[in-house]
Amino acid sequence: MEQKNISIIIDECALIIIGIGASGIYYIFEKIISASQNLTILITVVVILLTSICTQILLNNINRSKAALKEANISLEDKVKERTVELQESEAKYRTIFENTGTATIIIDEDMIISLANSEFSDLSGYEKDEVENRMPWTKFINDKTHRKLMTGKLLPAHKESSNLLAKNFECKFIDKNNIKKDILMTFAMIPGIDKNVASIADISELKEAERQIYHQAFHDTLTGLPNRALFMEHLTMAIKRGKRREDYFFAVIYLDIDRFKLINDSLGHNVGDKLLVAFANRIQDLLRDIDSLARFGGDEFVILLEDIEDKNYAVIIAERLQQSLKVPFDISGSEIYAPASFGIVLNTKVYDRPENIIRDADAAMYHAKEKGRSQFKIFDKTLHEKALKLLQIETDLRRAIANNEFELYYQPIVSLDTISIIGFEALIRWNHPEQGLVFPDSFIHVAEETGLIIPIGRWVLKQACIDLRRWEGQIKSKLPLFMSVNISSKQFLRPNLIDEIKENLDKNGLPPDRLKLEITETALMEDAHETIPLIQRLKDFGVQIVIDDFGTGYSSMSYLQQLPIDTLKVDQSFISRINNAHGENKNIVETIVSLAHKLGLNVVAEGVETAEQHSILSNMKCQLAQGFLFSKPLEKKKMDALIKKIEKFSKMNPDKRYSLKGMLSD
Ligand code: C2E
Ligand code: MG
Ligand code: MG
Repeated sequence: MEQKNISIIIDECALIIIGIGASGIYYIFEKIISASQNLTILITVVVILLTSICTQILLNNINRSKAALKEANISLEDKVKERTVELQESEAKYRTIFENTGTATIIIDEDMIISLANSEFSDLSGYEKDEVENRMPWTKFINDKTHRKLMTGKLLPAHKESSNLLAKNFECKFIDKNNIKKDILMTFAMIPGIDKNVASIADISELKEAERQIYHQAFHDTLTGLPNRALFMEHLTMAIKRGKRREDYFFAVIYLDIDRFKLINDSLGHNVGDKLLVAFANRIQDLLRDIDSLARFGGDEFVILLEDIEDKNYAVIIAERLQQSLKVPFDISGSEIYAPASFGIVLNTKVYDRPENIIRDADAAMYHAKEKGRSQFKIFDKTLHEKALKLLQIETDLRRAIANNEFELYYQPIVSLDTISIIGFEALIRWNHPEQGLVFPDSFIHVAEETGLIIPIGRWVLKQACIDLRRWEGQIKSKLPLFMSVNISSKQFLRPNLIDEIKENLDKNGLPPDRLKLEITETALMEDAHETIPLIQRLKDFGVQIVIDDFGTGYSSMSYLQQLPIDTLKVDQSFISRINNAHGENKNIVETIVSLAHKLGLNVVAEGVETAEQHSILSNMKCQLAQGFLFSKPLEKKKMDALIKKIEKFSKMNPDKRYSLKGMLSD
């Protein structure tokens, strides 16, 4: 600029001088014409001289300016060189940083084209730098269309417009030269002063894979790969919401439980059990539509969500089809195994707001299906709902009953059939309900078992029964010491400190262990055989006696009996009550049980003896022990106290005679 100005000034001066010179010449010519010739010539010479002097002076000045200009130019060039070197150094510095960021990095132009890419980007994308730089738009690498749109349409322009220079992060799918998709985290930052963005890209595929695995594990069952309860509940929640939004949307839930799966597991082993569960899941899954979901809730329990069904009948048709398919055995490692299942169905799902309530009711319906027998299904209805409410009420009442000590033990004598004298007692619980009066165990024990309340209740029964046995044993003289039979549910058996509890109660009352008999029902024993048998063995080793209650109603095979650590079989009252019917089938069964028990060295107690005829049939079979209304109903403690006092009195007055319980009670 400076140089330009100086040359303009010089040019202007030269023009002025030329102008002056020209006017001089013109003037001279004027005068030549008008004045005398000599004077004119003189003046002309002087003017020419003056003009040339002026021109010379001006030329000198111009030369001086030129020299100054040259000097300025040189220093300017130096400066430019210096700056260029500086710039080159700085660019080299930034390029080195750009190249060595350790992450794939690109510079994106305003028109979305990648102007610069580092070698990590080449590694990530599979393209050479020169294939990418100034050729490819960065969006080419984004797999997902929506992401691509979002980022080109919103992110970059918005980023540019905002004065906020903070980097922005985005997770999306990257697609490389070989069409391999990768999960990436892109961090965009505006480069201040120019319309460019720098984006660094981290490959987070491994992280995402780990995340996916963790998610999968959290929401799926490891054995079958099916959704678990948590995921199913999410699906169910969505279905409830959809049902509320759309009038024409119906869904149904089926709760499935394999019948006697425990038996399969216990007898054939867990490995076979696991294989069966997988095969079972696959067979059910194959019969469902893609939109339905099947989940495993644990153990042998599965739940189906039938989505968007046209009408409620569809669920019933599916249930029938599934049950039909389960009639075909599974081939597990070469053996044929049948796995029929009981189903509980909830059809009227529109009335529910909470998924857990649907599951609760489907489960309740499934239990009812099981009660009806195997391979059945039951649809949850109003009566079941009322039953469910009743159960809930019993549970609440039971909690109060424990706190208020509302339980009482009744005792039923167990007698020797030939003498009709008491050889022991069975403790039977009763509940003095403040509103309902005396409540029998059949109406609440199952609730106590399901809710775990059987533990405190059972503890109380054991304590009370031991105290009462201690009181009565000194009062009745019998050949053998009296015993106390206490009913124990499988839940109690599975408690590890049951032995300590028993020991404590026996010690407190000075009773040896063999005076206590623990009764476990055959069904409970077989259901959990795998777990209960070792525990029974421990109790037996400790010295208490084990009784199988309600024998004949469970599924234990006779050959299995031999291996069980037991002392007594109690023949279920259903056999005794029909022992004298016309066909004599029950008579044969009882006879077989009695003789088998004797062969195995076990005691047999006949339960529910009500008539003299039953008594005599049993005596003929050499069944030695019995209990039943014929001899005595279960008696409350006070009445049992009175009966025992009577026996004591009789024995004192008639030391040589034997008492008969029948006589005692008829007095
Ligand atoms: P169970 O152990 O089989 O008890 C025998 C049941 O038969 C008792 O019913 C008894 O009253 C009844 N019974 C006795 N003799 C006769 C008879 O001649 N005819 C008829 N029809 N019935 C007779 P209860 O007391 O109602 O007990 C029912 C069941 O409740 C018991 O069956 C037992 O399994 C359970 N239970 C009772 N007390 C307890 C307890 O303290 N704990 C546990 N876990 N279960 C108990
Ligand atoms: Mg019993
Ligand atoms: Mg029984």
